[in-house]
Amino acid sequence: MIRPALVITAMLLLILSVSCSDEPVTRYEFLMDTQCSITVYDAGDEAYIDQTFALMREMDRRLDRHSQDSQIARINRSAGICPVQVDGMTYSLVARAKELSILTSGAFNPLLGALSSLWAFGSPEHEVPDASQIADLVSHVDIGCLVLDEEDMSVYISDPAVQLDLGAIAKGYASQVAAEHLASCGVERAIVNLGGNVYCLGSKGPDEDWVVGIQNPEAPTGGYFATVLCSDAAVVTSGSYQRRFEVDGVEYHHILDPRTGWPADSDIVSVSIVSDDGALADALSTACFVLGTQEAGRLCRSMGVGMLALTTSGRIVRLDA
Ligand code: AMP
Ligand code: MG
Repeated sequence: MIRPALVITAMLLLILSVSCSDEPVTRYEFLMDTQCSITVYDAGDEAYIDQTFALMREMDRRLDRHSQDSQIARINRSAGICPVQVDGMTYSLVARAKELSILTSGAFNPLLGALSSLWAFGSPEHEVPDASQIADLVSHVDIGCLVLDEEDMSVYISDPAVQLDLGAIAKGYASQVAAEHLASCGVERAIVNLGGNVYCLGSKGPDEDWVVGIQNPEAPTGGYFATVLCSDAAVVTSGSYQRRFEVDGVEYHHILDPRTGWPADSDIVSVSIVSDDGALADALSTACFVLGTQEAGRLCRSMGVGMLALTTSGRIVRLDA
């Protein structure tokens, strides 16, 4: 019997004790398909938080591939037909996604939209897709199909069977844009959290990093298995526990291996990346999950970013930046 059990764990990342003289102010909003929060630790105008949420709402409106009016939906509808002109923010994020796909040897691939739709992890009904359909769709996934024209500021997907999905990079990017906006308003210490894509602005105190707890996949939300120290940096986590369902005793999770179109079967359960570049941290967390600890470690070392992984055998692999 099929027993769909969607587990969307509004992951992780508990910000541990904070020492400060001012009362922190926190606001929540559901955006980008996840619970988001902004906490500002210096006394300041709370209107900055409202402005920042408005900015994030606008990014969501442009980047959500499920919303008919978004720029990504327009690009997808025009696949195999014509290029679509987009705004500067969307263009640069798509261009970055292409660059990072190449850099990760395709482990992060923003062209998995058709496969993500087929798996439908966000829907309440769950069925394992037909293997031949998966094989057919995955055979079309090729980053060369993503054609960018900087002068025209246009994006074209040359194969109609291929769809763009920025789900593995957009939240990390948005967390950084939000933090930068707060900084431009004069805020010095804040935490932006988009469902586990955390950006820590400033530091906890003079010469003291923020302490970010990483969700233990086996524990209720807020139970962590390790902590990461950082200042002015993103901590982004990808994990198989975040979005998954079970059919006939087999679990299927939302991080796909672009080589097979099936949930990635590496030795990782959860991997967090620490970098001052939010988009990079997000794309890399997904890529590292797909690659497994050995290759992920090599990649992170070559890029000078920090990594914390929990393996299927319960081992913790930590790599400092
Ligand atoms: P994340 O939680 O950042 O690891 O991103 C996972 C989301 O990105 C999924 O829900 C899919 O929409 C999409 N996705 C899944 N696998 C990949 C992949 N290997 N590369 C790029 N995007 C992916
Ligand atoms: Mg990601």
